[in-house]
Amino acid sequence: MKRFLGLFAAAVLLSAQPAWAQSILRDAETEALLHDMSAPLITAAGLSPRDVKIVLINDEAVNAFVAGGQIVYVNSGTIQAADSANEVQGVIAHELGHITGGHVPLSDRMFSGATGISLLTMVLGLAAIAAGGGEAGAGILAAGQQAAMGNLLAFSRQQEASTDAAGARYLQTAGITGKGYLTFFGKLQKQEYRYGITRKDSFMLSHPTSGERIATLTETLQASPAWNKPSDAAIEERFRRVRAKLAGYVNTPERTLREYPESDNSVYARYARAYAWHKAGHPAKANAEADALVAKQPNDPYFLEVKGQILLESGRPAEALAPLRAATEGSRNNPLIATTFGHALIATENRANYPEAVRVLRTAVARDDQNPFAWYQLGTVYELTGDSARAALATAERASMMGDSRTAVARARFAMANIPANSSDWIRAQDIAMTAGNAISDERKRR
Ligand SMILES: [Zn+2]
Repeated sequence: MKRFLGLFAAAVLLSAQPAWAQSILRDAETEALLHDMSAPLITAAGLSPRDVKIVLINDEAVNAFVAGGQIVYVNSGTIQAADSANEVQGVIAHELGHITGGHVPLSDRMFSGATGISLLTMVLGLAAIAAGGGEAGAGILAAGQQAAMGNLLAFSRQQEASTDAAGARYLQTAGITGKGYLTFFGKLQKQEYRYGITRKDSFMLSHPTSGERIATLTETLQASPAWNKPSDAAIEERFRRVRAKLAGYVNTPERTLREYPESDNSVYARYARAYAWHKAGHPAKANAEADALVAKQPNDPYFLEVKGQILLESGRPAEALAPLRAATEGSRNNPLIATTFGHALIATENRANYPEAVRVLRTAVARDDQNPFAWYQLGTVYELTGDSARAALATAERASMMGDSRTAVARARFAMANIPANSSDWIRAQDIAMTAGNAISDERKRR
């Protein structure tokens, strides 16, 4: 468990995961790419790239969906099935159309409950268990069962038609060609025709299509001045890297080695194989691939990150420090990479490294409010340095993030009793105690 947890920095992978469960994959490089390739579309849709989140779900079914709020969920299977970033941009443009159209395919009951648990925190229930949250995580998980059904949601054909038009408009405004939109949808439609609808084509289930719809879409997209504009070369290059890395991470090592044979010395193949060898329990081979990547681009923070992760997770945390420190600095303190670095500092079991771990993890949690694993690490290092009050505050933060109000109140109150009154940490503990306390009393009133 621990081995895989850090691999996609703080990503969640449960071996005993039930078939329906979906987990969020978090990876610094992938998130940066998804952000950069969708920002112009989000702006074109009249939304703010700061507010809209593109969340990657660990699911091989080709799908993308919205479920209320400004979040677009994209399955890892969609990235794998796409031949270009431009194809994924088409999918994202389409989903943004569902957001601006106010199409919410789930009943409000699940999302506007007084507990205010969003889909994201429900899915994070998986992370709670992974991070040792036990029972609280299981409760969130049960709620998440209803939410984890992107492939069961469906829009009407009318909604699909207006969403297609919106998606096409966003692409045009952003100056991005709609060729990928069309090729991807065309590909999905052919699959539907050839094999009939299976779970693999769940995008077609949730977004019903027709020949007529494709014809209208083709006409609209081809009329855009951006139609013949080539896709952004830098984005496409980053996409090829991310797709290979993701393949190495989610697929079986056998499949990865078939798709990226050892005779292939490209960056993509090495990236995919670094993960495959690591997953298959061949640290020396994984390390050799990572070394080759770093040799090619010594300052690439993501290559340094994978190098450090492999060392950390094969039990060599002290050696992981240099590449992870460089990756953290090179990524301007990306919170996911910093969390892995903090984890490595703690894993050295060397007290001299703990103050740096505290510093690095504090920066990480300040910049990323969706990372219970970082709070878990921060709590651990506080405990190790004898600061049980701040360890309690870290647990309170993590519990409140997971919707476990009882733990949040108890730990926040303990923190308040042991931290100097009116200091910033004390005020934060008071905030959590109050918010979580209100959530508990709201819950009681409803019963
Ligand atoms: Zn749709």
